[in-house]
Amino acid sequence: MFLGELRQPVHYLTGIGPNHQKSLAALGIMNMGHLLSHFPLRYEDHKSIRTIRQAGGQMPVNCPVTVIGKDSFSWKGKETLKLIVEDEEGIRGTLLCYHRNFLGNKLIQGTKIYIYGLFQYKFGQWSCAAFEYELLSKSGKAGAEQAFGRILPVYPLGGSLNQKVLRRSVAQALKSYTPGLKDEIPFYLPRKGSLSSGKEPGGCPGNKLQALKAVHFPDTLEQTEEARNYLIYEEFFHLQTAVGRSALKDRERGNRKAVSLNRELEERLKKALPFALTQDQLKVLDEIAADLSSPRPMNRLVQGDVGSGKTLMAFTAALNVIRQGRQAALMAPTELLARQHAEKAAALLEPLGISVAFLKGSLQSKSRRHLLKELASGNIHLVLGTHALFSEDVIYKDLGLAIIDEQQRFGVAQRQALAAKGSCVDLLYMTATPIPRTLAMTAFGDLDISSIHTMPAGRKPVETHLARQGNEEKVYSFVRRELEKGRQAYFVYPLIEQSEKLALKDAENMYEKLQKIFPQYPAALIHSRIPEEEKKLRMEGFSGGKISLLVATSVVEVGVDVPNATIMVIEQAERFGLSALHQLRGRVGRSDLQSYAFLIYSPQLTEEGKQRLKIMMENNDGFLIAEEDLKLRGPGDMAGMKQSGYMSFRIADLARDSKILLQARADVLTIFREDPLLQKEEHKIIKELWDTAPPFNENLIRSA
Ligand code: ADP
Ligand code: MG
Repeated sequence: MFLGELRQPVHYLTGIGPNHQKSLAALGIMNMGHLLSHFPLRYEDHKSIRTIRQAGGQMPVNCPVTVIGKDSFSWKGKETLKLIVEDEEGIRGTLLCYHRNFLGNKLIQGTKIYIYGLFQYKFGQWSCAAFEYELLSKSGKAGAEQAFGRILPVYPLGGSLNQKVLRRSVAQALKSYTPGLKDEIPFYLPRKGSLSSGKEPGGCPGNKLQALKAVHFPDTLEQTEEARNYLIYEEFFHLQTAVGRSALKDRERGNRKAVSLNRELEERLKKALPFALTQDQLKVLDEIAADLSSPRPMNRLVQGDVGSGKTLMAFTAALNVIRQGRQAALMAPTELLARQHAEKAAALLEPLGISVAFLKGSLQSKSRRHLLKELASGNIHLVLGTHALFSEDVIYKDLGLAIIDEQQRFGVAQRQALAAKGSCVDLLYMTATPIPRTLAMTAFGDLDISSIHTMPAGRKPVETHLARQGNEEKVYSFVRRELEKGRQAYFVYPLIEQSEKLALKDAENMYEKLQKIFPQYPAALIHSRIPEEEKKLRMEGFSGGKISLLVATSVVEVGVDVPNATIMVIEQAERFGLSALHQLRGRVGRSDLQSYAFLIYSPQLTEEGKQRLKIMMENNDGFLIAEEDLKLRGPGDMAGMKQSGYMSFRIADLARDSKILLQARADVLTIFREDPLLQKEEHKIIKELWDTAPPFNENLIRSA
């Protein structure tokens, strides 16, 4: 029996009625397997004895005491009980019994109890406001429910649940349902020291059941460490085997004839550009060309900081595929960005004889029907759009390349749907939110990565300044001087319109205000609720230079490319996430002009908000910012994987446990190299696990 096969419903457990059942379900716990994978957040040490003196106000006191008297005090106009206790060292302490006056009858003078609680030294005495106690049993033996003398798990809770219910349920599930529980990793790995993450082998629990017991009810705190490492390793091991299996399948599936690529159109495009491509860009183009001619379809991510010039990589890849007689599609997350790309593609590629089309939303219209016909007949070579590109009625004659710009914005299913519109489709992902190495390896096990590290020549780093709300005047006068030089500016706000609940600045009001502040400069407002046609006109006004000020929400966050804009003002900047801030700042600094970003923050600043602004001030490099972001937020949200649920680990943490990840990855690579079909006796268990109780949904991984 694997853990995933313990499908007995939780209501089999004593004390789990409909209420608790519902609360457990809300935590994703339906059966015994789920329950045993609900891991403690931390532990309470009721084992190590700490007297009042030893705890010293720093740690919870945990020791036997004797009740030596009682008293009372007035709290919220109510008479409230105080118990005076004395520990074995003769130190006295006061237990403040809020809402627990009944204890006066139970804990009479002379009663011996264990207590657990934090004492503080105040007004010349030790006192404790929140404590747990247990009667010191005469036999001295600990009952099943007894806490004293143990290390207790503290679980994430919800609804009707409390720690007692969870502890009791987990203990019962462990006892009654786990005999015969099978390991999920080959037996030899723990012995060879894979699990102890740097420590000597031997300290780790020998198998899964021991690890589970130790993680829930450890004898010592060191044991929890080892048990956790085992389970973290196991989780990464599963993930990496999933990646390994899907790589094998890809290899079986994706065989086509190698072609010798004709790069003539690419050469013509390069000649037509007003600038030379950077070394990194040229290298990426070669990597893409090699993929396109290989018998294995391309699966490549191009990562490069905002403004590093990724769009041209996409266009060039498209040209090379089109030259082979196939079609290309470029998907962008917003219609604004898709349209901008379509306009650039038309300007650059139509002169080379390529027919380019922009596919608007999914509304039926005559022009759309016409476009779809052209696409199906192959008259359109390159089509650009949002997720509309894979609507059911969109049919390609022969889709050979799918490009996904700002890939982190798309869910796995969306990316997959686009790829499914053709056969042996080459996939090219682009992102300006660089994926930290550990994450990339894990999530995109079989993905090739190209990086653009250098910015186009002549770019100056954006100067970033902080300003406190109330000092906007200074920022505005700086902006005025730039406008006088003929430059353009973005102003970004957290909200579209005024909200009663949130005291935040909104784009609509600020649009009115800014027009008064800069009366001689035309301004435009842009946010998600403005109709597409209108958005398009305003955006064209800004990119054509007719509009000087673009007042916006974070809709301008991705992709927008207006090189003459040199100012980015973000008000209430602390409300934006790090990656949004970095992307927004990346809207400027797109030419050889010096550009500026102003982050205006409001006085009510959370610690994390402060941290984000600090990181923005100190870093210009998207890669470092992404690493910091990972530390600050955890990896769950990153790289668009939140939507897929794919990256929600039960116990592992990519940022914290990267060492264990590397170990698991190395072990799995070895296994697949030496025994790709998992036929060896000691590897059969891996196959068996995936057949009976798969730890991950493999489909999510294939196209990630
Ligand atoms: P991103 O990587 O953020 O998608 P873009 O592809 O939008 O960046 O490029 C940013 C700007 O830089 C565009 O205006 C583009 O034309 C320009 N650009 C791209 N490559 C170069 C280069 N090698 N030299 C100068 N400008 C370039
Ligand atoms: Mg881009």
